[in-house]
Amino acid sequence: MKLYDFHTHTSAISLCCRLSREQVVAALKKEGTDGLVLTNHYAPRHVNLPFEEWLLKYQKEFELTKEAAEKEGLSALFGMEVTIEGRDFLIYGLPSSALFESEKPLFDYTLGELHAFVLKRGGLLIHAHPFRSKGSPVNGALVDGYEINCHPLYGYSFAKEVHELCDGKKLITCGSDYHGDTYKPKCGVYLPDDLQSEEELAAFLKSGQPTLLEHTIVKG
Ligand SMILES: [Zn+2]
Ligand SMILES: [Zn+2]
Repeated sequence: MKLYDFHTHTSAISLCCRLSREQVVAALKKEGTDGLVLTNHYAPRHVNLPFEEWLLKYQKEFELTKEAAEKEGLSALFGMEVTIEGRDFLIYGLPSSALFESEKPLFDYTLGELHAFVLKRGGLLIHAHPFRSKGSPVNGALVDGYEINCHPLYGYSFAKEVHELCDGKKLITCGSDYHGDTYKPKCGVYLPDDLQSEEELAAFLKSGQPTLLEHTIVKG
């Protein structure tokens, strides 16, 4: 199995991230992680071009990150982190062409509409860091699972709460949400060695709970 960090950003799209695609890949390689799902922010405050141009840039950034990863022997899969009504949702298992299949920006959808968009195309929608900043998880009918987010800035991953919430009935994913402003937590999801595409990722995640590598956040 290969370890993939399921929550990663690069500075070309995620304006809050301090790291270029090459720096993210180097950090993952250094710690011995085998791959990543690139989940750049898809939210109004990150859109700094006319929207259609921004979507093309968003897709291009994935292609360039994949190239940078493969050059270093790592794998990369496409994902997104969409902000809806102040909460963040991770999309897995859709190819980057899905960016151009919606009639309006995904951040203008309701959560129910976003879930329907993702389900219709065979992907999965995961509530990112559901307990962060005194947050509360959205209704389980509206998502396919919940994330254990190991971003050190927030002091605690809420792993216990997410496990209790999911209780074997909902999928759990895990990622670092690394922005370059902290140490790099090593964590993620184990995927089969031969997994190559977002479609295969969706099928694997739908087959049952994958093995996670969780990280206990070190303060200070
Ligand atoms: Zn961010
Ligand atoms: Zn994030």
